[in-house]
Amino acid sequence: MEELLVIEVCAGSARLTKTCRKLGLRGLAVDKVTERSCGIDIMVLDLTVASQLQLLLDIIDAEKHRILMIFIAPPCGTASRARGRPIKSSLLRGRKAPAPLRSDLQPDGLDNLEGLDKLKTELANQLYEGITRLILFAAGLDICVVVENPANSLYWKTSFAQKFLTTLGGCMTDFHNCCHGGSRDKLTSFWSNKDWMQPLQMFCDGQHPHQSWRPKIRDGRLVFPTAEEAAYPWLLCTRIINLVLDMAKRLGAIMHATLEEQMADKDFSLMNRYIFEALPRSTKLHPLVPDFSYYTYVVTPAQHVDLCTEVLQLFPKGAKILPRRLWTWGVFRAEQFRGECVFLEILEGDISEDQTVECHHVGVPHDPMAFLEKAINAGHPKDLERHVDPTMHEVLMDNFHRPPHLLACRRIDFIKKYTQLAKTSKAEELKLRLKMPPHIRKLMTGKRLHLLGVMLTDLGFPDKDLLHDLCNGFKLSGWMPDSHLFPRKVRNPTLTVDALKQSSNSFNEKVIQQMSIRQESVLEQDTWGETEHEIEQDWIWEDTTSDWTGKSVARRFGIRQGGKTRVIDDCTVCGLNLTVGTKEKFSLHTIDQLCGMLDHSFKCSEGQHCKVLGRTYDLKSAYKQFGLCSHDRDFVRIAVNKPGVKDPVLLGLNALPFGAIGSVAGFLRVSFALWWIGVFGMGIAWSAYFDDYSSLTRPELASNTHWAISSLFELIGLQYAKEGSKAPPFQ
Ligand SMILES: [Zn+2]
Repeated sequence: MEELLVIEVCAGSARLTKTCRKLGLRGLAVDKVTERSCGIDIMVLDLTVASQLQLLLDIIDAEKHRILMIFIAPPCGTASRARGRPIKSSLLRGRKAPAPLRSDLQPDGLDNLEGLDKLKTELANQLYEGITRLILFAAGLDICVVVENPANSLYWKTSFAQKFLTTLGGCMTDFHNCCHGGSRDKLTSFWSNKDWMQPLQMFCDGQHPHQSWRPKIRDGRLVFPTAEEAAYPWLLCTRIINLVLDMAKRLGAIMHATLEEQMADKDFSLMNRYIFEALPRSTKLHPLVPDFSYYTYVVTPAQHVDLCTEVLQLFPKGAKILPRRLWTWGVFRAEQFRGECVFLEILEGDISEDQTVECHHVGVPHDPMAFLEKAINAGHPKDLERHVDPTMHEVLMDNFHRPPHLLACRRIDFIKKYTQLAKTSKAEELKLRLKMPPHIRKLMTGKRLHLLGVMLTDLGFPDKDLLHDLCNGFKLSGWMPDSHLFPRKVRNPTLTVDALKQSSNSFNEKVIQQMSIRQESVLEQDTWGETEHEIEQDWIWEDTTSDWTGKSVARRFGIRQGGKTRVIDDCTVCGLNLTVGTKEKFSLHTIDQLCGMLDHSFKCSEGQHCKVLGRTYDLKSAYKQFGLCSHDRDFVRIAVNKPGVKDPVLLGLNALPFGAIGSVAGFLRVSFALWWIGVFGMGIAWSAYFDDYSSLTRPELASNTHWAISSLFELIGLQYAKEGSKAPPFQ
């Protein structure tokens, strides 16, 4: 459930997004401006601009399986029927009354519009057109779309609204705002391609006072009540979100009640399934003991929106109203009521089958002693049975519990088989090299990518596109490809690549300005020295045209790290990293995973566990061993200051730069591929952390393990540390 997303377009105050996040969903608010936000971050997009609309469509496409609803509230200022209503001259005080801009006969705009009125209407129409594209696109993906406007708004009559209304059909839900916490009996319409909003249909029974509809003067300005009604009442937001939450449950979404349940979730993560899930750290993991001792319902009349506090008074302290939602009484009784609910200001016998009631789902807390008892029974989180995948279990058994020679033989067979293949597949290797762009071909000298591809296919590696991307280079801009290695989690790009290209000049000006502040001379000297070294290696090349036009230029600078100078290519300042969208959350094997492996092996031991040795293997200049794709090679440059020279030197790239998100995304795929081959091909008990592979072995197998890992790196042609502090023996 917490993966599901609601997108609020023309969000304004973004109250719906805030409600989403409060109720455990992801919410993305989109608007052209952010001023009216109720403290929610708003993604600023102008949907009248094609590239920005496209960015939103890209996001929708990327998230399509997790979008629960797209809620759109097209601005109705130009479409309001309140325009043209007579206003007392005492209120106007010489100001011009707002004139109608549209009519039933000319809903797209009156013929005689001029000046600002004409401009405003045309801009609104451009936005309506973009919104219609968005609606048709989302509905085509079978995503629930809800569009809100006043029932009498001329928006519904525009050719833009008519286009999706006639194409999609769908259904309308009408209600008076005051039935859902509003202060006036404003009639609002929701159109949707699904019928999820139907329970909101409700009309005022006139049993409560309303605020006036008359415009008034506030702070010297004429204020129309239509503007005040623009932000949705909080109650309406809660009701809308609870309707979609309920629908999500019916469609099979799972709400995690306890940690144990969450850890048993099959989709938790493929990678973590093979290794061991670390101790709970993030707040996304739920407590071991459920928060509440029991749940019940309180039923109230739907129009009485202010009964919440009274509902809670019926229960002990700490009780909480979980979802509240509207139900038709007959349906609620059939689906939820088990003779245990509480009625407030309403008598069960008086409710008719088709009457809408509000049902508050109430969680009642444990009493303290009962809570303690449950906590003791639940045990410590470290004792939880983790995802001990059968493969990892077998690897640990082979390494530490079975006769060592069996594993040694298996590893020898594996290396033998692929050494043989390396000899017989020279032609394929050559063919693959010929297809590579020249800069990748040079970088891949000495690497056997065909062989790597065969190994990965033989071992069922899930990232089927890795070989292709290795041969053609990794992307540094735009959406990163799906690797199927990590848990799904979408991080949207802030900028499209097109938008970056269009604005590269202003980004580059920022870089030039930053570069004019020189680093201290030793650091600048070291940075330039490293740059010369990289040019020699062909990892980068000097772009002698010195032409920054249309390029995304990263800024290279040095930092001091452990007595050495490390060179960073800042790809954020130039906007490049802003274009990166990821659909997966990179997770690395940390020390917890390694401990988890040891812990499991110790538990499997019947007598005394054998001695365990460990060491780390380290890939040399890891990012520089792999290339970037031709598109980004053309597009991306690095600027670096050369000692004694005024203007920065412009560099082009062949290999992945240190400082780009795309480099991380690309390299991690390689990193896990090697890890996979080690585990599945040769039963190596190791973890992968970027370019570091921490390996475990028993003493009898130490030299075999070392030989197997080194042979694997040699066979593929990877550069790794063979001596010095980064190549300690097993100990
Ligand atoms: Zn009312």
